[in-house]
Amino acid sequence: MDICVWDKCNNNCSMCTNPDKPWLSFDGKSEGSYEYEVLVERIKRFKSKAASDDSIILTGGEPTLHPRFLDVLKFIRKTFPKQEIRILTNGRRFVYRDFAEAVLKTDNLNLAVSLYGPTSKIHDAITRTKNSFEQTVGGLNNILARRGADQSVEIRTVISKLSYRYLDQILSLIKVYFPSVDRVILIFIEREGQAIKHSKSVSLSYSQVRPYLEKIYLFFSLLKEVRLYHFPLCSLDSKFWPFVWRTLPEKEVTFIPSCIQCQYKKYCLGIHKDYPNKIKSKEFKSIESNFIVKETNDFYHPIIKVTKNNDF
Ligand code: SF4
Repeated sequence: MDICVWDKCNNNCSMCTNPDKPWLSFDGKSEGSYEYEVLVERIKRFKSKAASDDSIILTGGEPTLHPRFLDVLKFIRKTFPKQEIRILTNGRRFVYRDFAEAVLKTDNLNLAVSLYGPTSKIHDAITRTKNSFEQTVGGLNNILARRGADQSVEIRTVISKLSYRYLDQILSLIKVYFPSVDRVILIFIEREGQAIKHSKSVSLSYSQVRPYLEKIYLFFSLLKEVRLYHFPLCSLDSKFWPFVWRTLPEKEVTFIPSCIQCQYKKYCLGIHKDYPNKIKSKEFKSIESNFIVKETNDFYHPIIKVTKNNDF
């Protein structure tokens, strides 16, 4: 369950999926209205809709920049005492220790921090914001040094034309400097919002990414957990399937005619509706039943193990 806390951001990422400002608040009624009192009313309306195992996801813009973020966080914890609260953040405000400590008073918390490059030069070019890398890295250090046993931390990176060549360096940086991070999530770029405007400089194909994923396969066993978001199964070598999560809503994906023959369609996310040349590119091909798949009971993470059929 997503709660958009604030529509402003101190980064200006070229591949951001947010629309131009101001955008409608999540209830579709109060355009650009994020005052504390308005947020509180929205959160109250959400209460009856949240299942006990739903995560409450705080998004933006950059949610931590809300002038009353700590009050919002406290109110959410009071309203949803049992649910995990996840904050999607660029991590920059956590460079201030008192802020990091105040946020980390919340139990059952997940901090999902975006890191887009292995150096300030690359990361800051993507966020189009000077010193953003330095603050994100400083924020991550503060979070990891202070988080408690019921607080998890993940690093998210969006794979775009600006970053895909550096995936090995990004994971290497995480392994060396942030080995205690609970998971790393690699997200194939979505064509939405600002990413459409900057499509020429940020969009890329699954085929372009594939060789760079091969280069990082080693890290999938070196890091605590790695996940791949927004990848159809046939865009990947089968060894990556256990790391694939189904992450896009049904209304945003499609299957093409060749998918009908695919023996693994029931595990596949599908292809984003706005992915260009879905048929013409011949990137998506039905997969024959050459693999034995160990299933999970989790719709979002359908495969836990893959073995080639001829190994038996
Ligand atoms: S052919 Fe279609 S169903 Fe099969 S893996 Fe590719 S996108 Fe998914």
